Amino acid sequence: MQDAKKDLASLLPEELASEIREMGEASFRSGQVFDWLAKGVWEFGDMRNLPQVLRDKLGEYYRIAAPKVLRKQVSQADGTVKYLWQLNDGNAVESVVMRYSYGNTVCISSQVGCRQGCVFCASAGLGFKRNLSAGEMLGEVLFSQVDSGTPISGIVLMGIGEPLENYENVLRFLKLVNHPKGMNIGMRHISLSTCGLVPEIERLAKENLQLTLSVSLHAPDDETRKSIMPIARKYDIETLIDCCADYFRRTERRISFEYALIKGVNDASWQAEKLAGIMRKTHGHLNLIPLNRVEGSPLVPGDTRSFSETLKKLGVNVTVRRRLGADIDAACGQLRRKEAT
Ligand code: SAH
Repeated sequence: MQDAKKDLASLLPEELASEIREMGEASFRSGQVFDWLAKGVWEFGDMRNLPQVLRDKLGEYYRIAAPKVLRKQVSQADGTVKYLWQLNDGNAVESVVMRYSYGNTVCISSQVGCRQGCVFCASAGLGFKRNLSAGEMLGEVLFSQVDSGTPISGIVLMGIGEPLENYENVLRFLKLVNHPKGMNIGMRHISLSTCGLVPEIERLAKENLQLTLSVSLHAPDDETRKSIMPIARKYDIETLIDCCADYFRRTERRISFEYALIKGVNDASWQAEKLAGIMRKTHGHLNLIPLNRVEGSPLVPGDTRSFSETLKKLGVNVTVRRRLGADIDAACGQLRRKEAT
């Protein structure tokens, strides 16, 4: 049965080495296999320097499944490339390649669908299917690079899904993509965004990774946050903020807080003041995001320019995020949403 096979692309080089040894093969073979995987050759038949018997044996015990391009859109405005990938089991996830002056970054999904149900998000309402494996997340990065011909130097885990709900696989993915024998992408070039799962943030703090943690805050008070993010009913602002302050103390890495401005919901001046207090307490950076409108949603973007001016006057370290790929719906689950409807 195909599912009984091990997912080869999820294995770290040292794990692959011990599996290959257990198969009675020379250990240098595992290096060859890993090199092929890192180049984007995800077919045993194409691993030309391996003897046929080994290719057959690998095919018997392992599965590798490169994602297939189901849809691809290139922004005329800024070269942003958006992929809808088809996974081995027919499910689809999306990734977006963004071009910046300092290098190219890919935004990847960590789950098929999402359970969190944030009211402003296009991924909500489509239902949750399953977690992605480490190899599938690696596939998003690698094949975005191979297909777009754009060398990728940064990753943001800000696509579909809640990465900290898929903790083990995400950690494994981070180790894989950071591995010197693999894509070798530095942790400092990786951002992970969470809706604020407190126990998992505490756990991540102990891993002491040099990645950037982004926390989707979107409101500085419990009442508003509960009205737009169901997770706020589980962890109140005080608990979340204490946990974030502790994360900074432990890792010395500044947290980037995400705040999508929604007119009449989270853009009042009293909320700016409360937000400034949170930023002081956590030593955080505020990423103000122009709300992306989602079809059928009554939510309207707030005035990011004036809100950021207010915040600056209050001493907040704030940047307004540039919108990339606006002409191709390159934001927040919108392509998968279109495919599903
Ligand atoms: N589950 C994770 C990562 C995925 S969402 C998280 O919640 O952080 C990535 C970011 O996009 C989050 O900050 C999310 O709140 C934000 N986002 C979702 N929908 C949006 C919209 N319509 N406009 C602006 N930002 C949005």
